[in-house]
Amino acid sequence: MNISKKKNEMPTQAPLERIKNFEEVALGYTFEMALDEADRCLNCKNPPCVKGCPVNIDIPGFITKIKEKDINKAYDVISDYSIFPSICGRVCPQETQCEAVCVRAKNGDPVGIGRLERYVADYVYENKRENKIIKEEANNIKVAVVGAGPAGLTCASELARKGYSVTVYEALHAAGGVLAYGIPEFRLPKKILASEVEKLKNLGVEIITNAIIGKSLTIDDLFSDGYKAIYLGTGAGLPKFMKIPGENANGVFSANEFLTRINLMKAYKQEYDTPIYKANKIAVVGGGNVAMDAARCAKRLGANEVYIIYRRSEKEMPARIEEVHHAKEEEIKFMMLTNPIEIVAEKGKVVGIKCIKMELKEADASGRMRPVEVTDSEFIIEVDAVIMALGNYPNPLLTKATENLDTDSRGCLIVDENYQTSKKGVFAGGDAVTGAATIISAMGAGKIAANNIDKYIKSLK
Ligand SMILES: Cc1cc2nc3c(=O)[nH]c(=O)nc-3n(C[C@H](O)[C@H](O)[C@H](O)COP(=O)(O)OP(=O)(O)OC[C@H]3O[C@@H](n4cnc5c(N)ncnc54)[C@H](O)[C@@H]3O)c2cc1C
Ligand code: SF4
Repeated sequence: MNISKKKNEMPTQAPLERIKNFEEVALGYTFEMALDEADRCLNCKNPPCVKGCPVNIDIPGFITKIKEKDINKAYDVISDYSIFPSICGRVCPQETQCEAVCVRAKNGDPVGIGRLERYVADYVYENKRENKIIKEEANNIKVAVVGAGPAGLTCASELARKGYSVTVYEALHAAGGVLAYGIPEFRLPKKILASEVEKLKNLGVEIITNAIIGKSLTIDDLFSDGYKAIYLGTGAGLPKFMKIPGENANGVFSANEFLTRINLMKAYKQEYDTPIYKANKIAVVGGGNVAMDAARCAKRLGANEVYIIYRRSEKEMPARIEEVHHAKEEEIKFMMLTNPIEIVAEKGKVVGIKCIKMELKEADASGRMRPVEVTDSEFIIEVDAVIMALGNYPNPLLTKATENLDTDSRGCLIVDENYQTSKKGVFAGGDAVTGAATIISAMGAGKIAANNIDKYIKSLK
């Protein structure tokens, strides 16, 4: 058989068509494409791709099932390791994880592992197969999970499977964390997220929304209420700003606020009259997935010119390659080696962003090349809105309201090797511990913590 060195292309909506809507950009493989892509897998004896996956999915195992045309079995193989295949298949950074170490990548493209995972999950979703609920007998021991993002939901699911009675407390009115309020519909449709959250409810997990732990209830209230352990998957939802002149002008937003209005307040739906700042020319500051999402949303809301302003070069951008590629196809303008120094405002409203050119010098502590200002290279870009997508810190609300919960200088929760915080019986993981990271690493952390919570509760007897 003549195996192609190239991955099967992912069919997508045409760029100039898709910027007029919020529907999904990547359309998914057909059965034939999935079979052809699966045939590219060598079924390696010691598969490096499995080690590259933070939850160690049996990748050759599920791909073999696709080759055998048994897509339901392929789904079961993935489900043994991950509760969110349709989400990970869409938004995991496979290019730096499983696919980065795929043997096929030594001489051509890696196997399209993420695309195959998505194919399998979508097949099961479209065919409405009932998922098997594999669960140990109920032990009537209560565990509380704070935060319904990927870390909290994974921990909740693992504990429910072990027979625990799990309640998730979520501050917002919808479950999903960043998957619900941050990632736009055109990358992760809400109906896909809803179906994954439903799986948890079927396992018996109770999700209480609009409940801010640290305000509505405290950690100590939860212990008094009979919870034997508590997991904090509270994420990193507090946006950073640049602290430059003019940042308080009308028309400057954090990407968090902008994306929350679009996602949770439904500005992405034409029939909703969500209050959202409509601008013709927008600058988005930052180079990660958050910046790409904000820029691409701005375009879809009608902005004619959207700039991504990033102080390093494209090579250093933390955004997924696919997102950068899609953003460029959508005519978003990339201003690399450029750093804002002032927001220019007239009568309190943004009219421009003053920037300076940068050059890269030797690597800094993060290992990335250090950007340095080029003297006398200031210039102004005319814009009527600026979105700051510079990263996030954990919100200090819960830690401030809780005694003996230690954090580091960034406000991230400190945990020991068992993912237990400085407060007995309180465990934590995901972005709340690591700072802004990835969905799959948050899921991995939730899974490990669930095992440790189980051991901890058993040790209390
Ligand atoms: C716009 C955007 C795009 C991204 N794109 C990608 C991507 O393509 N691929 C990828 O791998 N990663 C991506 N990420 C990163 C990824 O989403 C996060 O790393 C991941 O969601 C972290 O999961 P988590 O469960 O730790 O936290 P979160 O997803 O942040 O969830 C935390 C939850 O806890 C809730 N909470 C917080 N405090 C409290 C409290 N006191 N009481 C009750 N509830 C509380 C929050 O409301 C939230 O729902 C993106 C992030 C953003 C913001
Ligand atoms: S490394 Fe690549 S070729 Fe080998 S099993 Fe994994 S996906 Fe298949």
